Amino acid sequence: MTDWEALRTACDQCHRCPLGQTRTNLVFGVGNPSADILFVGEGPGEQEDLKGEPFVGKAGILLDKMLSCIGMSRTENVYIANIVKCRPPRNRDPLPEERQACLPYLRAQTKLIRPKIIVCLGKVAATTLIDPSFSIMRSHGVWQERKGFWMIATFHPAALLRNENLKRDAYSDLLKIRAKYDELHSSDQKKGPPESDGQVKEETEK
Ligand code: SF4
Repeated sequence: MTDWEALRTACDQCHRCPLGQTRTNLVFGVGNPSADILFVGEGPGEQEDLKGEPFVGKAGILLDKMLSCIGMSRTENVYIANIVKCRPPRNRDPLPEERQACLPYLRAQTKLIRPKIIVCLGKVAATTLIDPSFSIMRSHGVWQERKGFWMIATFHPAALLRNENLKRDAYSDLLKIRAKYDELHSSDQKKGPPESDGQVKEETEK
């Protein structure tokens, strides 16, 4: 059994928090398991819960368009997951204790994927992964280097559907993400293949 299979099985059987009792399907994640970019949303909504896949429905269609704008797609260059893998009732924000219960699974996925860039989609992901006091309005589009990852936050596609005025800023954030991806790739090519992946592994284990 691979690590991915073991992780998937553990998630499928998980009842670490009350969200496990009300889910229809666990929403594990989707995308390229070797992607350089990991997108993290907050949690499954109704459609995601029914289909068992993150970002389906209107917000998912918009996310796919956003990725397409920068020459990426959910099946090729990125991996998409959420802070919690089971739907919070009535689409409320996941509670702090639910986020903490589920985070080890996201950390394990991160360790397996080994992305260079982590993009937080919306407030819940940014306050959980970057800083508890993070403000999306003030600090979206700002890079932070943390524990071997380049991290950035932008607006959740559902927020863009509610407020079209945010789309211009979101597009600017996407261009920064594409530019960082290209910059990291070009510096990789100059350096040649990595000698060791120890640092990233160590950091994701913390
Ligand atoms: S949300 Fe996460 S921790 Fe809670 S039951 Fe689902 S998989 Fe387990």
